[in-house]
Amino acid sequence: MDKNIKILIIGGGAAGMTAAITAARNGAEVILLEQLSRVGKKILATGNGRCNLTNSDIDIKRYHGNNIKFAFAPLKQFDQYKTIEFFEDLGICCIEESDGKVFPASNQASSVLDVLRYEMSRLKVVEMCDSVVTLIAPKSHGFEVSLKNGKILKCDKVILATGGKASPGLGSNGSGYDLARTLGHKIIQPFPALVKLKLDAPFLKSISGAKIVSEVAIESDGRVIRRDNGEILFTDYGISGPPIIQLSRCAGEQLRNNKKTEVVLDLFPKITFKELLSLLEKRRLLREDKSFDFSFIGLINKRFINIILHESGISNSKIPCKDIRDEQLELVAGKMKRWAMTVSGTQSWNEAQVTAGGIDVSDINPETMESKLIPGLYFAGEIIDIDGDCGGFNLQWAWSSGFIAGLYAAQK
Ligand SMILES: Cc1cc2nc3c(=O)[nH]c(=O)nc-3n(C[C@H](O)[C@H](O)[C@H](O)COP(=O)(O)OP(=O)(O)OC[C@H]3O[C@@H](n4cnc5c(N)ncnc54)[C@H](O)[C@@H]3O)c2cc1C
Repeated sequence: MDKNIKILIIGGGAAGMTAAITAARNGAEVILLEQLSRVGKKILATGNGRCNLTNSDIDIKRYHGNNIKFAFAPLKQFDQYKTIEFFEDLGICCIEESDGKVFPASNQASSVLDVLRYEMSRLKVVEMCDSVVTLIAPKSHGFEVSLKNGKILKCDKVILATGGKASPGLGSNGSGYDLARTLGHKIIQPFPALVKLKLDAPFLKSISGAKIVSEVAIESDGRVIRRDNGEILFTDYGISGPPIIQLSRCAGEQLRNNKKTEVVLDLFPKITFKELLSLLEKRRLLREDKSFDFSFIGLINKRFINIILHESGISNSKIPCKDIRDEQLELVAGKMKRWAMTVSGTQSWNEAQVTAGGIDVSDINPETMESKLIPGLYFAGEIIDIDGDCGGFNLQWAWSSGFIAGLYAAQK
């Protein structure tokens, strides 16, 4: 009788667990190795504890990496509909919210982890926690996988799903890159993504905690790379809020390439510079004897008035409106339409939700997730040089690539 394929999956995150379930459903004997004391710790933190598990509008344009086309086949083979069906079958009722974001109706990320663990147990997947993998050694038949505690495990195939470097407190500390490197795989330099940005600006302390709604663009060498809009939060080191988190990936990429990178705010995106100028002129006229800063009350958040005036070259904001010259008013309107600040960096890995960069996809078969260098070795999840926007796109990548890796690793 043919013996079952024995697969070791390294990393008990979203990708590793999907691979484990899929491989076991396809007849493989599966051991899941996790370095922490339990699997799925990161899943519990996703979507602010609610787990935004996919998006109804999965589109390759929402993914990034050196070769985005690589993501096409896995995302097509196991798309958002199959993902929803997979979770509905396990008992998760999926609810779509704004911007296509899909959450479990329970609003609890823990329910997603519960059903994955329950299914792994039903399929007799062996969970080996507190197991740090230190080496993968290909042998003439299969692999030997060494653990930090000295144990050596033998198997037919290996799936490497150790995540990237983002949020190392939740397990993913980049150790998978070293395991892959020793097997000859190239790593595209990882950098933090979906993360807050640091700014080089003198006024940050005075507006820390203040919010403003704005259109925001990332510019590099004077070229707009990407735009978004929404509520922005200033902090004592820089800038945050949903549009900034979304744009942080392209800012990080420009910085990695040593490009001068700016965040440019347009506080009045719905009107033109001329329209804004005539609005400011009217307000100046109506408040002739009042101080200039007073003419902005009710137009923008008070905490920003003096900073914008100062940034526009008006050091004394208390001068009466009637003494403000037209050129000065133009400078202020210009600043409100185009407030550029230099990005000095991203926040650290501890703050990042995802890793940009990772295993170079040119050495992986996108149809199967198998290494082109080492037959029997597969990759899944964030360890690969593919990352997505905020909104369920990263978990979808983990489910899709995990499913494909599990499916093909289980083939004899
Ligand atoms: C706070 C936060 C919120 C997020 N929210 C969302 C969201 O709502 N929607 C979304 O789509 N994405 C979200 N993401 C991103 C998403 O969670 C990840 O992209 C996804 O979970 C990655 O899954 P993975 O299995 O590839 O890696 P991970 O989940 O990082 O799992 C890798 C596992 O491998 C283990 N491991 C690493 N090295 C070894 C080793 N040498 N030996 C043994 N085990 C090892 C780690 O301990 C870890 O458990 C969020 C991320 C964070 C940090």
